[in-house]
Amino acid sequence: MYRPVIVASWVALGLALEPSLCVAADSLMVDSQFEGASVRVLEIDEAARSISFMPGGDPVRGWPCWWYFRVDGIAPDETITLRLRGSTATVGKEKPLSSSWAMPTQATFSTDGETWLHTENGQRQDEWIIYTLKPDNASVFVAWGPPYTPSTATKFVQAMSERSPHAKATELCRSREDRPVPMLHVREGERTNKQRFGVWVQARQHAWESGSSWVAQGFGEWLCGDDEEAAWLRQHAEIFIVPVMDVDNTATGNGGKNSLPHDHNRDWSPKPHWNEVIAAQRVIGGLIEEDRMDVFLDLHNPAPGDPSFFYILPREMLQEPMISLRDRFIDLAYARISKIKPLIPMSNQPKMTGASYHPLWREISANWVSMNGNPHTVSLCLETI
Ligand SMILES: [Zn+2]
Repeated sequence: MYRPVIVASWVALGLALEPSLCVAADSLMVDSQFEGASVRVLEIDEAARSISFMPGGDPVRGWPCWWYFRVDGIAPDETITLRLRGSTATVGKEKPLSSSWAMPTQATFSTDGETWLHTENGQRQDEWIIYTLKPDNASVFVAWGPPYTPSTATKFVQAMSERSPHAKATELCRSREDRPVPMLHVREGERTNKQRFGVWVQARQHAWESGSSWVAQGFGEWLCGDDEEAAWLRQHAEIFIVPVMDVDNTATGNGGKNSLPHDHNRDWSPKPHWNEVIAAQRVIGGLIEEDRMDVFLDLHNPAPGDPSFFYILPREMLQEPMISLRDRFIDLAYARISKIKPLIPMSNQPKMTGASYHPLWREISANWVSMNGNPHTVSLCLETI
């Protein structure tokens, strides 16, 4: 879906339609024809060795704030410049999304697509932010943050199932665009399912929030590792991990958040639109029926400048023992997360997602699980920076 836009920008530069065939080897070139990529190139200034661009996402498929592409043609020892502005794309008469959502303080880059590094801080200049980097490689991937695609999720669940006899790579479902939705299922030992706590951890109901998938993967790696508490959890619980819920918008480099008709985290109704939500409700519904929907955790990334924090329902909407169990979970999580070095700024004051938060507040996943769960269900959303 980005091809026409990119071709148009090449035409605007007076270049041929097939740039890779016609442009000299040392010209800077941009490629975004791969999984998760998104960019709209505005100008490539060969003299300045600079690329001006904005995110390429279709706002119908969510906030156009994610960007990820590859730059080729970089000379040894060369410093290149990335000039980013916010997307001007809109849905109907809505105003364009605030550019701050697309502008991390530091951009992310990688020469091998595996190891991701930060640039120096970007410099604001009018509507632009300007990053410079010296990749020491002919090609470099650049992105809003470390990308995590559906293929990364597939690789992760397969790696865990090879590493641990207690972990099984499986699929939650197929997406509306018929992509697999990888899921990791973990349980150890002879306890029957009914004797186990039910634990559900999901990320990426909003496709641009790539960091949330890395948090899900980190949890899965810990869970399948040697830590004594991880072993206890495997033996006493049945754990489901879905690193990417919105696989279609993640695969196509779209933002996902506020996509039409509504995004995955406004879809937890009696009649969901998205296949992933239908399938998740089915599994979670089974846990609720067996009175063991114990912990539901929905992972996200917050607004620019926010610390990490939990989103929860106001306590007056809930009953005991749910409230005390949830507050205990938050206290324990805060005590651990706030000790991590280097420090991850975290607020111990959860924010509320009750009736005043959003008209579709009942269709937010953690709220739906709280309101439809068991009396002891702990269900919350964790936003990590
Ligand atoms: Zn989100």
